[in-house]
Amino acid sequence: MNEKMMKEGMEIIDAHFKGEGVSRRDAMKMFGAGGAAMLLGSGVPTQAQASSSAKGKILIVGGGLAGMATAAKLTNTLDNPDITILEPGASSTSYQPGQTLVGAGLWTNEDTEYKRDDFIPSGAKLIKESAVEFDPDNNTVKTSGGQTIKYDFLVVAAGVKLDFSRIKGLGITDTITSRGDDSAVRKIVGQNGIASIYFGNGGTDTWTQMQKFIADAKSGKKVKGVFTHPNTPIKCGGAPKKIMYLTDARLREAGARDNADLTFYPNGSAMFGVPEYHNAIQKQFTERDMKWNYRHNLIAVDPKNKVATFNRHWKEKGAWDEDLEEYGIDLKSKEVEVPYDFLHITPPMIAAEEIAKSPLGSTKGWVPVKKETLQHVKYKNVFALGDIAAVPMGKTGGSARKQYAVLVENLISVMEGKEPTAKYGGYTVCPLITSIGTVMLAEFDWSKKPTPSFPFDPTQERWMWWLLKVYALKPMTQYGMLSGRA
Ligand SMILES: Cc1cc2nc3c(=O)[nH]c(=O)nc-3n(C[C@H](O)[C@H](O)[C@H](O)COP(=O)(O)OP(=O)(O)OC[C@H]3O[C@@H](n4cnc5c(N)ncnc54)[C@H](O)[C@@H]3O)c2cc1C
Repeated sequence: MNEKMMKEGMEIIDAHFKGEGVSRRDAMKMFGAGGAAMLLGSGVPTQAQASSSAKGKILIVGGGLAGMATAAKLTNTLDNPDITILEPGASSTSYQPGQTLVGAGLWTNEDTEYKRDDFIPSGAKLIKESAVEFDPDNNTVKTSGGQTIKYDFLVVAAGVKLDFSRIKGLGITDTITSRGDDSAVRKIVGQNGIASIYFGNGGTDTWTQMQKFIADAKSGKKVKGVFTHPNTPIKCGGAPKKIMYLTDARLREAGARDNADLTFYPNGSAMFGVPEYHNAIQKQFTERDMKWNYRHNLIAVDPKNKVATFNRHWKEKGAWDEDLEEYGIDLKSKEVEVPYDFLHITPPMIAAEEIAKSPLGSTKGWVPVKKETLQHVKYKNVFALGDIAAVPMGKTGGSARKQYAVLVENLISVMEGKEPTAKYGGYTVCPLITSIGTVMLAEFDWSKKPTPSFPFDPTQERWMWWLLKVYALKPMTQYGMLSGRA
């Protein structure tokens, strides 16, 4: 997507917003994007930046979206910033939401690829290594290259790891990140009908596998598409469904939909945690003849015979408990084999092992922070944000966009010897692609209620949200958030 396309897209968005009685500038203000100039890629700051003379050595672990946005805003705000970023991945700032569009052949991988080194804020020091050991009692971190870094303040923004090793039969032993080296996984996921948009090259491979699936359906063969959602927290909970909606759209475009059976197998028992969006999605699925089977967790794949094995689990009324004077609940499960022609895997996701085993991580590895201030529950000079933070909802870029401003304000308060008072309200957003050309903009927060930024019914699929998704969100992220200004 070049600047000309983006400008044209903006004009179309303008026309739409005007039709709805909202100017684009107002619309983007509602989104907190800082206005149209930034959206058009000029990077012109539109918000006055507060400044602080607070001092201290800040270490940021993880230079992906959340870490780099935090580094940029700290640089904009502190008079004398002393910031070190630890990030091993050369493409860490790439635009992960675009991988869904690559998976359906709408973008190429190049459209999503951004170089980490282009986003290092001026004056910040980058160490191209990983943190391997954390000693928060002595304020030190050891790196993969053997350095020991001393800090005054630590920001943990290490994202999630994709753990395909939990699925038997794939022969994968290592965890990977979404934009790191994916060669170990790509040998099997991306071949022979198996696909996943969750890692960098996975988008391109998904499109290759999807096209074969569609060609088979077009040739008259009856084919089965299976889409999974694991039993761990995942980033962008909408993406497993988005790729299914896009498969449906591509099959229809090819005139081959009648030959394909598409079924979603999520571990959970709802389409979405917010009832209004759950109901809307079930309706959309029914209208498109897309099926679903709740409470199915993918545990094994037989790539040779194209069979996926799920753990199907459910609850049954148990025996009467004399003491509690109520019936117990028995957890039941059994293995279910499902043949597939196209299998889209959303992998189990975990916190980085080095954090899980450190004093900073919770038993499950996520970094326990106070959900509103993002300050570590035990170490007052440590903060965490983005996908690694143990906050109740929303491992999305949209959440990180709200979090990093709160974190910077609170970190600077602590640096100035004050209490942190800025609060993250749990906002997150999922632009749920429902077809080529439509998106349902699901915004919500901890209240589990829709929190629309715009005065329209948020459960409706709209073309203007598609335009926002395809044309505006990437520049908002790359030029707004990663420069610490939106
Ligand atoms: C397919 C897909 C679709 C998505 N769609 C959307 C969407 O539509 N909307 C939306 O808002 N969000 C979406 N997201 C989610 C969004 O991309 C993430 O929530 C966001 O990138 C989180 O930012 P982060 O900085 O926490 O993690 P990341 O951006 O993943 O960065 C974490 C970084 O930490 C580094 N790291 C890890 N361990 C260490 C260590 N020990 N030492 C040093 N560095 C380390 C990694 O190399 C990585 O670069 C999607 C993601 C995917 C994969």
